[in-house]
Parts: sequence; structure tokens; C-alpha cells
Amino acid sequence: MNQVISAVIANGNNISFWLDRWVDPLPFYLQFPDLFKVERDKECMVTDRISAGDDGIVFNWAWTKPDLGLEELNQVQHLIGLIGGLALTSGIDGWCWKYDPSGNFSVASIKRILSSTNRISPERVFEWNNWVSKKVGMVAWRAKMERMPTKHALAIRNVPVLDHLCVLCGDYVETCDHIFVSCHFAQIVWLNIAAWCKLPPIIAFGINDLLTLHGVSSGSRKKRKALHAVVLVTFWCIWKMRNDVVFRQSSPNAMKMLDKIKSMAYLWVNHRSKEAALTWEDWSRFNFGG
Ligand SMILES: [Zn+2]
Repeated sequence: MNQVISAVIANGNNISFWLDRWVDPLPFYLQFPDLFKVERDKECMVTDRISAGDDGIVFNWAWTKPDLGLEELNQVQHLIGLIGGLALTSGIDGWCWKYDPSGNFSVASIKRILSSTNRISPERVFEWNNWVSKKVGMVAWRAKMERMPTKHALAIRNVPVLDHLCVLCGDYVETCDHIFVSCHFAQIVWLNIAAWCKLPPIIAFGINDLLTLHGVSSGSRKKRKALHAVVLVTFWCIWKMRNDVVFRQSSPNAMKMLDKIKSMAYLWVNHRSKEAALTWEDWSRFNFGG
């Protein structure tokens, strides 16, 4: 039921911070699993975690460990971005039925859902790949859904950011499409991936072009699934490199990253695909025996 009912926040006393849907269509425990893991009180209410301060919302976190890691801090930043613009009021929290414009439950609205379930646009469907971990696939999934805490995304949500520029090139506004597709850095990476995987040069206009690359390329099913895994790992590595530059002041290095993509993707694919015969030599040449 949580899928079709969402909370309408007022004072936040009756809405579960992590378990209910109240800001985003996806409850926070699903959207930020790493943070949920270190949350001290998994069933806490919204008022336990946020309160109204003089200059907007004040966050009152309660983690099970004294210091959060980089990825966790990154998620906190994203979460704050989602909540930032909200204001608590003195009213009582309400609930909203997703499928009726009035928010009230109706049989007619159920009928409408049932007759429209087959109409999900393929553009919206994200293809997972069990040769890489969920954590790796998550970056591409969030990028596709425009849910990455890029500087641009944070600025839109009124989170103060120093500047809006991409840290990998320093020239353009940091959006998902920029970091993963049009950034000079990303283009070097994709061109090298193409050369390694024996593909024609990759020309992508958007994230979806990269995520559907395996579907339109030639070769066996196995080879295409491996290519898809490589693409997902590349998204993960680009985002990780971006974070290393932002949080650890490392300098972006495309060649080092390519080596990392190759070896990481090999570890995942070799371990999970049950292809015992996949040697490093074959992998280095992206050779799948046809
Ligand atoms: Zn850039």
C-alpha cells in the first residue's frame, strides 16, 4: 500500500522519516539504504529528525557511529537537498491516494490504473544486470532518474554550493548529463571503452544512449550482457572519481580510471556470471569466443 499512498506533511508527528513516502516517490530507506543501515532508530518520525529553526529546517541525525564515510556523507547531502525546501506547520499530517487528483480514494481511479498499467514507456524502464552488484547499478539508475546529488541538482533544491562547475573539466555546469555523457573527461572514457570492447566510437546524446548500447550492439547475448555490465561499472567509476576530486582533492585521471573499470568489471563478471572460462587475457581483448 505504501506504493500508492503518500504522506502529506504538516507537523511530521505521524509520518515515519525512513519508511513512509513523504518527500519523494521512493521512501528514504530504499533511496538511501546506507544511511538507513546506520540510523539509530529505524522507526523514527519526521519530527525526530527535522525541526523548524529560525532559518529553516534543522536536522537532528542519530547515527550508530560517530563519523560517516564519504558515500554516506554524500547521501546525507542528497537527502538534505530533497528535504531542504520543506516547511513544517502546526497542522496534522494527512495521507494522499496517488491515483486520484483529489487525493481521495476512489474505485474509478483504481480502474484507470488497471487499464493503464501496460502503458509504461520503455524510456522509464531501467534494466538491471545481475553480473554487477546493486550498489554499482544504483549510480546509473539514479543518473537516469535524475536523482544524483550533482551541484546543479543541489542548487535547484536550495542547498548552498560553492560553484556549479563540473570538477572533472571545470568548464560546464555539473548536471547528470554533463558528467556522464558530454563532459570531455567522460567522452575520453567512453571512446576508450569503445576501443576496448571493439565497438564503433560511442556517440551518446543522453544517458539513455549509454544504457541501451548493449541492446543495439552485435555479438552473443553473453557479450552484450558483459558490455552492459561494463557500462554500469563505468557510471559507478565516473561518479566515484568525481567524489574523490570533490572530497579528497585527487586529480581526475581517465587512463587510471579505465584500468580500474577493466579490472573491477572483470572481478564482478568473472565472479557472478559463472563463466569459469573467462580468463583475464580474453577479458583484456573483450573476447567472448564469438
Ligand atoms: Zn565536465
